[in-house]
Amino acid sequence: MNIDYPKLNLHTHSTYSDGRNSIKQIVKAALKTDLEYICITDHFTDSWKADHIPNLNNLDKIMRYLDEITYYQELISKENKNLTLLKGIEIDLGSSENFILNNIIPNRFDLILFEYLESLEGIAFLKKIFTYWEEKYPIFPIVGLAHFDPSFFIIRGLDTLVDFLKQYDVIIEFNSSYPQFYSPKQEIFFKKLKEYNIKVSIGCDSHHISSLRDIESAYRMIEFYNLEENLNNLVDSLDKKSPA
Ligand SMILES: [Zn+2]
Repeated sequence: MNIDYPKLNLHTHSTYSDGRNSIKQIVKAALKTDLEYICITDHFTDSWKADHIPNLNNLDKIMRYLDEITYYQELISKENKNLTLLKGIEIDLGSSENFILNNIIPNRFDLILFEYLESLEGIAFLKKIFTYWEEKYPIFPIVGLAHFDPSFFIIRGLDTLVDFLKQYDVIIEFNSSYPQFYSPKQEIFFKKLKEYNIKVSIGCDSHHISSLRDIESAYRMIEFYNLEENLNNLVDSLDKKSPA
């Protein structure tokens, strides 16, 4: 891997959802790696999945989660460590609109990921959420699509999708746990990302600290599609947002 790239893992789970480790253990483990950015992105859902995985299913729990991450952000900065810890969440698009609007205060997060965008109806649903956030909050959050599968849009809807990504500056995540989503079969989609300068990120969906550093294959896919600049653009926007 080219050592000039910033090293990030912007998709990890803690015991606040289905991860095996506490935030404290994740931070401790991350500090032992060369990772420069790490984002905790625990699940948020009221779909059928909510009965099967623990998640950030109420405002109280979300506040405790955010407070705990703030505590470690302050500790890291006090100790002058070379790690930027970010507050994230991974919202299941099977969730109901009201559940999202009533529980998510977008400004409190550095990165809001959505999983399972698979249809034009899904884009319409997200636009409703984003329109509400634009009207209600002064700053629009950094939003992204977790382990996004472009194949749903290759036959129909690719232009609609790309327009949507541009309109809300939506990030496409390269996730090491889902190599099939980055196959050359989907090249037309990744060419559009380059053409329209859509930001890309790196995440590996780690549910255990042993896989915190499993980001190499995602970097290789970003190199394969020449999206290094798109990644650097994301890092620039994170730097502008995160506390100095
Ligand atoms: Zn995840």
